[in-house]
Amino acid sequence: MTSLPTADPYLPGHGDPSWSATHYALDLDYDLVSNRLAGTAVIQAVADEDITRVVLDLAHLQVQKVTVDGKAPAKWAHRDHRLVLTLKREVRSGQAFAVQVKYAGRPRPVVLAPHGDAGWEELSDGVIVAGQPHGAPSWFPCNDRPDDKAPYSISVTAAQNYTVVANGALVGRTRRGSGETWRYEQDEPMASYLATVQIGRYRLVEDDGDGIPILGAVPEGAMAGYTRSFGRQREMLDYFSEAFGPYPFGRYTAVITDDALEIPLESQSLSTFGRNYLTGRWEEVRLVAHELAHQWFGNAVTLRQWKDIWLHEGFACYAEWLWSEAGGYESCDTHARRHHARLARLGKDLVLADPGPAMMFDDRVYKRGALTLHALRLTVGDETFFRLLRTWVARHDGGTVTTADFEALAAEVVGTDLSGLFDAWLRGLPLPALP
Ligand SMILES: [Zn+2]
Repeated sequence: MTSLPTADPYLPGHGDPSWSATHYALDLDYDLVSNRLAGTAVIQAVADEDITRVVLDLAHLQVQKVTVDGKAPAKWAHRDHRLVLTLKREVRSGQAFAVQVKYAGRPRPVVLAPHGDAGWEELSDGVIVAGQPHGAPSWFPCNDRPDDKAPYSISVTAAQNYTVVANGALVGRTRRGSGETWRYEQDEPMASYLATVQIGRYRLVEDDGDGIPILGAVPEGAMAGYTRSFGRQREMLDYFSEAFGPYPFGRYTAVITDDALEIPLESQSLSTFGRNYLTGRWEEVRLVAHELAHQWFGNAVTLRQWKDIWLHEGFACYAEWLWSEAGGYESCDTHARRHHARLARLGKDLVLADPGPAMMFDDRVYKRGALTLHALRLTVGDETFFRLLRTWVARHDGGTVTTADFEALAAEVVGTDLSGLFDAWLRGLPLPALP
């Protein structure tokens, strides 16, 4: 037996580079009392080379039935979080095929060193899926690599007194017996780690502004706090749309869980925050801005390899500083100089453009990433800098990118050689001075 693939060295044992998904349809039934999930996943796919084997990622749940193009494969085996299908005959490179997997069980987070746990997680009275970076296999069979983006249809049936939020637009709600089925369509391509389901006793509230619908999934008694911390999301979205280009999805939802959560997290078209983010202080508001900015940087424009995580976190962190200035808090430059001084006192063992899996979510990736953008902005001027950001999003919306892509676009838009700046900030160890 040949060994199983790893698509990205930062996520060992995840992803199969020999094929790509072109659509996921997930039909899920979830019992909150017993934490039992029953699902059918239909994955439309295309072979990227001649293949006789298809490997999917699926953790903890039991596979009941598998078909490929409507028929049983030659054989299938499910162990150690991998579902391995041996095909009856070769699928040639470029050919389409469809895999259907019926499965059930008690979902729980996936544990992967050095990242810890991620994925389907029970709350006191509900569920979140915090998929980044390796949690998607906790709830559906997938090709778990960030460069394989596809549209999704997600249908979830749960008890009637709960609200279900998933990615994309809510296209249907059907009541049947004691359950209610919520159907969502995520038309824009999405990486597997950004797929999510959120279930809780939420009231769905929509702001009355024009343009992109902004929703809150808010638990009992949290409306005043929601207004305190999230009340300026319309202004934020308008400001970011000016700075980065149009908001990339059809709606945006902030889910506020009744439980406290250690950190907020972005998913495609929505973000999740704990109830401990409702006092309206800058430390919370900055994360409201941060998660919203990920809709452009991370979700619409997604890294091809996890080593380029600064393309998500550095940009989202810089968006915090931008909103600080636009929203009447401290200036962007004040944040930059303060964090530069802080970073100058910290250890210098991190390479921004390849920090290693253990440090990919280190705070220095966020702050040095943001400082790289600030240094670039101070070098090329505001007009060119924001034109570069808007061109970056417009050109790569729905796709995947590398650090080299950003450097090449910067050279193209700016028209001068920036390799010295990028080498020092992205690949050097010492902290360069700000211009
Ligand atoms: Zn982030």
